[in-house]
Amino acid sequence: MDLDTKARLISVGTVELADIRPSSGPVSAAGPGAGEENVFFRSGERRVRLSVVESSPLRLVDRGGGEVAIEEREIEVARGRLEAPLLHCPEQAYITVSERCIYDCKFCAVPKLAGGVKSLQKVVAMVDRARATGNLQAISLTSGVERSPREEVARMADIVRSVCRFDVPIGVSVTPAFRSSEILKEAGAVEIKYNVECLDPEVFGQVCPGVSLDAIKTALKNAVRHFGRNRVFSNVIIGLGESDNILREGIEELAEMGVLPVLRAVYPHPLRQGETMMERPSADRLLDLARYTRRVLDRCDLRGDVAETMCYRCTGCDLIPHRDL
Ligand code: SF4
Repeated sequence: MDLDTKARLISVGTVELADIRPSSGPVSAAGPGAGEENVFFRSGERRVRLSVVESSPLRLVDRGGGEVAIEEREIEVARGRLEAPLLHCPEQAYITVSERCIYDCKFCAVPKLAGGVKSLQKVVAMVDRARATGNLQAISLTSGVERSPREEVARMADIVRSVCRFDVPIGVSVTPAFRSSEILKEAGAVEIKYNVECLDPEVFGQVCPGVSLDAIKTALKNAVRHFGRNRVFSNVIIGLGESDNILREGIEELAEMGVLPVLRAVYPHPLRQGETMMERPSADRLLDLARYTRRVLDRCDLRGDVAETMCYRCTGCDLIPHRDL
């Protein structure tokens, strides 16, 4: 799968299954397709995650001998194999702890799904089962906010301390709170992600009511002091109506702080239909922004290929600088 093809597949974001039943794990509670079934397709050095739907311009077909192909208008565009996720994604136990949220970001399915909150014992048991497969290479923990960001950080820190025993790198993605970077670093996390979600302040105000973009940026700056360069990440959603100029400025601002932006194509989740503009970016737009990000990271002396956890390690949903391009 070449770079242009991966960009095209991400731009579509979905696939329909012809004659295949992928050996998938449980339905994911994290990431763009929360609550939906996904497949992970690997071809050469690249991986892509696609949501399984009944009607997609892309079709996954069995070629026999463990090989599968992705077709568009009956023309094969990529050939590879399916990867079984461990927990949410391949090789990682990526666990959503609180599957609910007090915030109401208009693109996010988690508040609508209003799921449960996993206990520490349950998370440890899940990681233990993942380790038993022999494929566990990292633990990534994410969470909505059940009651307050501060309580959620304390809950995460307890879990991090408990899962240190598995002796694999641990990454955490949460809403920042007072001293959250210090607390999570001390607990044993090696990487952290605080999501800015939208870099256009005007759009941000509409799609993330009750959340402060400036506070997240301040937390990111502080996170670099504690976790170091190349260890701090932030999701930036593409397709909420933001302009590319504002995006470029924001990407530069993050990189200059030492933060790696995760450029994520918006996923118009069925539970959020009609609540805000959500337009899947074209392949050309994704490529253009990814190439820009790669240039900015190079200038800031940051690397996308040293991440040990979360999305820069997985690469399924995005074009990752220094991994895909
Ligand atoms: S890139 Fe991130 S959100 Fe996407 S499947 Fe991988 S770990 Fe999940």
